[in-house]
Amino acid sequence: MRTNSRLRLAVSLGFALVIGLVVTSGTTELGAQPGDVDWGAVGLSTHHVAGTVHYLEGRGGNIGLSVGTDGVVMIDDQFGPLADRIRGVINGISDGNIRFLINTHVHGDHTGGNANFAAMGVPIVAQDRVRVRLAANQTEGALPVLTFSEDITINLNDDPAHVIPMPAAHTDGDSIIHFVASDVIHTGDMFRTVAFPVIDRNNGGTLPGTIEALGLLAGMAGPNTKILPGHGVVSTRADVIEFRDMVITVADRVEALVAQGRSYDAVAAADPTREFRAKWGDPERFLTAVYAELGGEQ
Ligand SMILES: [Zn+2]
Repeated sequence: MRTNSRLRLAVSLGFALVIGLVVTSGTTELGAQPGDVDWGAVGLSTHHVAGTVHYLEGRGGNIGLSVGTDGVVMIDDQFGPLADRIRGVINGISDGNIRFLINTHVHGDHTGGNANFAAMGVPIVAQDRVRVRLAANQTEGALPVLTFSEDITINLNDDPAHVIPMPAAHTDGDSIIHFVASDVIHTGDMFRTVAFPVIDRNNGGTLPGTIEALGLLAGMAGPNTKILPGHGVVSTRADVIEFRDMVITVADRVEALVAQGRSYDAVAAADPTREFRAKWGDPERFLTAVYAELGGEQ
């Protein structure tokens, strides 16, 4: 499946850079766009996943696309300055008729093109809380018009898109989308292959919700299900289980240290992510969130 490891590595490093911006600025995932981005230079490419499902890689979260005779079901939209070019790429692999655009969660690297696609007449679909948070961010004209609090199904392309709200994990508006016939799940950012989990507590994300949501995702997937993460490469159920088990291991270690009254610095010095950093990189943001979630003093 991972046929071009050198390309994959380059992609991973690219996403790691984006994650780095999040860590240092704290705003990239919340909708602010880096002012020095040369948007015209951002490469856009599509990759077939399985059945009707492709994904579009550019800058920001992976865009999922179900393409068929009924048109396109689109998941997430990256950044506004890329919207016209993203539209062009979609037109190149479909009839250009985008029937619905689903937001997996509120963050600007997944919803930054909402206003652009809404202006093209594409209805936006998301959890109720995504609309509430986008409205609070005053993103005029970019709000989902169809919202839900329980799972829904979009029946197009003979590939039902089962849109399922998750417990508050990455944010409190997370949804995953299972294209049932193609057996592909777009996870949004509750699962990623390129970094430790981001638990955005300012947008309602939680540690217990992250563990629960990853368990639900693993339970929903079969051994052959293709898992399309919010950031990173197409993965398997086994990868989700490994990620969930890592979160549980780190949380158990931090919980024991918090129970001893350790400061954050002491917890960090105990290196509870020690064997995981080689794979998932800088743990600081994750560790900070886990420590706070488990009641540690900041
Ligand atoms: Zn996100």
